[in-house]
Amino acid sequence: MKSYTKYLWFSTKNRYDIINITDQVEDAISESKVKEGLCLVNAMHITASVFINDNEIGLHQDFLAWVEKLAPYGKEKYKHNLTGEDNGDAHLKRTIMGREVVCAITNGKLDFGPWEQIFYGEFDGQRKKRVLVKVIGE
Ligand code: ZN
Repeated sequence: MKSYTKYLWFSTKNRYDIINITDQVEDAISESKVKEGLCLVNAMHITASVFINDNEIGLHQDFLAWVEKLAPYGKEKYKHNLTGEDNGDAHLKRTIMGREVVCAITNGKLDFGPWEQIFYGEFDGQRKKRVLVKVIGE
């Protein structure tokens, strides 16, 4: 069995962002030389997400508005922020949007439905953060 590991780095201009990382994951799969297997993609920070959905800007705005409604930003709103941090909301947003995705690789490509794309969701950005890509298979 082959195994391949790659780290993707992100430093967003804004506190919140949604970035399409499908091409970067496809690059990692191609570098791995795996033709049949699985690909794990996970955020390595507890205030960022990796998820699969549609590459549609209105939907991305809907996601950000939805998580803001569920876990609004605010230093005084969360017990976590008593530690001196201000990102209690970002931990909750990350949990709602998910930590990772696992994707099938068939014939050396992501075996996706027609509208599936992989996204990095940032909820406490403006600093360097990592995503792990782990490819296993034959
Ligand atoms: Zn925190």
